Amino acid sequence: MNHNLTQLIDVSTLYGKDKTFVIAGGGNTSFKDESHIWVKASGVALETIDENGFVCLSRAKLKIVSSKTYSGDATEREAEVKADLAHAIVSAGNNRPSVETSMHEIIDYQFVVHTHPTLVNALMCSTNAERICFELFGDQSLFIPYTDPGYILFKKVETEIARSTSKFGKAPQIIFLENHGVFVAADSIPVINEIYFSIIEKIKSKISQALPKDDLKPFESPIIDNIQQLHPEFGTFAAKGIESSLIHQFTTNRKSFLKADTAFTPDDIVYCKAHYLFIPAYQNEKDQIESARAKIAGYVNSYGYLPKVLAVEGQGIIAVEENLKSVLNVLEVYSNILKISYLSDNFGGPKFMTKDQIEFIDNWEVENYRRKLAKS
Ligand SMILES: [Zn+2]
Repeated sequence: MNHNLTQLIDVSTLYGKDKTFVIAGGGNTSFKDESHIWVKASGVALETIDENGFVCLSRAKLKIVSSKTYSGDATEREAEVKADLAHAIVSAGNNRPSVETSMHEIIDYQFVVHTHPTLVNALMCSTNAERICFELFGDQSLFIPYTDPGYILFKKVETEIARSTSKFGKAPQIIFLENHGVFVAADSIPVINEIYFSIIEKIKSKISQALPKDDLKPFESPIIDNIQQLHPEFGTFAAKGIESSLIHQFTTNRKSFLKADTAFTPDDIVYCKAHYLFIPAYQNEKDQIESARAKIAGYVNSYGYLPKVLAVEGQGIIAVEENLKSVLNVLEVYSNILKISYLSDNFGGPKFMTKDQIEFIDNWEVENYRRKLAKS
């Protein structure tokens, strides 16, 4: 195997295995030479990736995405871009390249490692993100204010890279994305690791309020025992509860839960949906079940979909999903939301996605879901 590809696999699994960098299969990596780029396939986890987990594309054909004019309609546009990406594939197999492939292509370094580290997102999802980012990393690192993912984000990053490159005579190696994560780029893996190390150290230096001790334990509740009866569509669903000192910080009361009741990043929405349900506590088991039933009905009425995260006042959180594997993913992603929210207090407090930003992802999801249904 190509030596560079071996290095790409090594760096991918290194960051993929580290839950402080990559949660629930997020993140992506790439290597490029003069004519080709190898980028992580969509739906493949970095943690266990091998050579079959990458898609090889023609860089000449990918450049079309930069210059072409696409439809003004978001759904049509994303479908057109996807078709052009597919057209650029030179490797065999049915793997689809990551949706962030075009972004990897325009970053002028051989290796690109994109992750969503908890510490980076504590800063990226805070009200003072831009100012503190500039203070810590200067203007040679890019800070991209939140932009809808897909083509629009790609064009925004392309413009900012060009601006920075002409200003400094050198392409940026760190690209921070507000309410999303970070891209790190270099021509060698040791430099990628050095940059990541310095990013984490600099952010740590600003943290005066560290996370409470990790004392996670299972949380028992009549809501969990009766989950399948709480909504007709929960019929075969699984549920699991957890609690910890960190979780208690947010479940104390309705007001404390305002700091954890909605999404920070597009990935949060994909795994946990955009809104999290607070359920008041009752001593009596029957009352507890009835109040949960009413709250769930109210939620479905407001948002049009089932809740995946339930928080019980003064107690723990519960994830509800189609199967246990998905339940564990929801707990992992939502626990990370709590960490980010807690740590963001070091940077002015949490900054969640707005209603419009959430709506864009929800619609995108609906489209993806529709396509999935159409296929089956
Ligand atoms: Zn990402």
